[in-house]
Amino acid sequence: MQFALGIDLGGTSTKLALIDAAGHIVARSSFSTSDRTDEHDFFRFLFEGIDGLLAGQDVQLVGIGAGAPSVNEQQGTIENAANLPFSPKVEFVKTVQERYGLPVHLVKDSNASSLGEWHFGAAKGMTNFLLLTLGTGLGCGIVANGRLLGGEFGHGGEAGHICVQPGGRACGCGRFGCLETYVSATGLKRTVFELMSNSLIASPLRSESYDGMTARHIFEAAQSGDELALLAFGKTGEILGRAVADMAAWFEPEAVVMSGGLAMAGDLLFVPTVDSMERHALAFHKGKIKVLPSTLGENDAALLGAAALVWKQ
Ligand SMILES: [Zn+2]
Repeated sequence: MQFALGIDLGGTSTKLALIDAAGHIVARSSFSTSDRTDEHDFFRFLFEGIDGLLAGQDVQLVGIGAGAPSVNEQQGTIENAANLPFSPKVEFVKTVQERYGLPVHLVKDSNASSLGEWHFGAAKGMTNFLLLTLGTGLGCGIVANGRLLGGEFGHGGEAGHICVQPGGRACGCGRFGCLETYVSATGLKRTVFELMSNSLIASPLRSESYDGMTARHIFEAAQSGDELALLAFGKTGEILGRAVADMAAWFEPEAVVMSGGLAMAGDLLFVPTVDSMERHALAFHKGKIKVLPSTLGENDAALLGAAALVWKQ
């Protein structure tokens, strides 16, 4: 049987899967990326993982697709990746191609997730949609007029770094007030600490240290009705909804699909986001743009999108 191999290369772990043309994952494995010493060590583990998936199976591999951070799509390289133990420039496509003699495709991670949602998930059949991945940061993929927006160099659609608050919170990109410093798991925590210092609201969250607190703590507090946690989710949704309304002015999507750990908070985030989006949207966009949760689960969108790269060629 014919399969594509999908790779989701992340800073913490790298996931691999054999995926058929209908988007079914038939076998999978993973290994730690952060424990690798350099790219040579990484490729050793990657090839072992791929060989392990292929061993003993009646598999005809059609191609290999990968999603990764800091990708140069034109050159098939990974360049200056802040969270990977790599040299400044890694020849990903060339190295994998030389080993397997198959077509190898590489896109940036958030675009891989967009392709996954587009071909197999919540955005199936859509011509215009935005994907927002809310994790440690905020990733974005844009499909406009039936095409994935890559931009001139493949780095277009970096909505996590649009400025929503001039002079606001410091961002890892070196600028201030970026969307992801407010709307992400980390952004939510920063909002909680801001609320704790600016209000007198009692909350069990006050006994957590900054490093010890996670988005899950805040989610659980909100679920049990904690006022401070609910306020933090409300503020996060307010900022996200306004940003989505602005993005709608550019792209007029049919839907905004939200994935990633923070999106798993469900109504706690979706309700204030939709409320804010509707208040801030242009008149002719009000009531028209859907905000949908990913249907691919927290972990599989990028893997499936990486496989879609192979199947849609
Ligand atoms: Zn930024």
